[in-house]
Amino acid sequence: CGIVGVVGNENATDILVNGLTKLEYRGYDSAGIYVNNQNNQDFLVKATGKIKELKNKITPEVKGSIGIGHTRWATHGIPTIENAHPHLSNDDRFYLVHNGVINNYQELRDDYLADVKFHSQTDTEVVVQLVDRFVVDEGLDTFTAFQKVLHLIDGSYAFLLVDRQNPETLYVAKRKSPLLLGLAQGFNVVTSDAMAMLDQTKDFVELNDGEVVILTQDDYQIFNENNQEVKRDSYHLSVDS
Ligand code: GLU
Repeated sequence: CGIVGVVGNENATDILVNGLTKLEYRGYDSAGIYVNNQNNQDFLVKATGKIKELKNKITPEVKGSIGIGHTRWATHGIPTIENAHPHLSNDDRFYLVHNGVINNYQELRDDYLADVKFHSQTDTEVVVQLVDRFVVDEGLDTFTAFQKVLHLIDGSYAFLLVDRQNPETLYVAKRKSPLLLGLAQGFNVVTSDAMAMLDQTKDFVELNDGEVVILTQDDYQIFNENNQEVKRDSYHLSVDS
């Protein structure tokens, strides 16, 4: 399984598909992408089986400058289109990909989302519906709502979240699943494995467990679990490619 994301490059679709192809070695049963052109047009494409099947479904108009991609190794819910990521909130506002396992998803669902209709059997969908609940019903801003959800989770995760109402920003979080940032020329990326983004950059920023990131085209802000900003420079990967 694996995750890729890009913000600030109009070829987001190609970068995601290229990245997911390089993550194929990690194993997966389905795949999907969400891209948004930051001009009120967005696209969600998912497929079971190989990345080739996903590629076949990506028509030329599927273009964006911010996007998230996922290969799934099912833990909760069989491999179907409905269970493939990205998952979205019922109001179509939030899009999320996840690697890992949410141990307490059933409790979270019972405690906060008993009235919400779910569209998948995954543990992941609880997270995106819960962010939406805290934003729409409690009036929190997206970053605060995301942090609140992260504090409620018992489990492992690499997450990328997009808010359609602010498609300039990727929200990123990591705990016990691999994830790192990549700083490219004029845009930024995020990936489970640096290797998947070497066509875009060799400059990466490590993330530690419990950290959450606001990633934009030209900046990254990392916060620890106590909501303190952490300053961390990138390192340059020397590889022959
Ligand atoms: N637990 C999630 C699911 O089953 C994510 C699995 C993964 O890491 O790909 O959908």
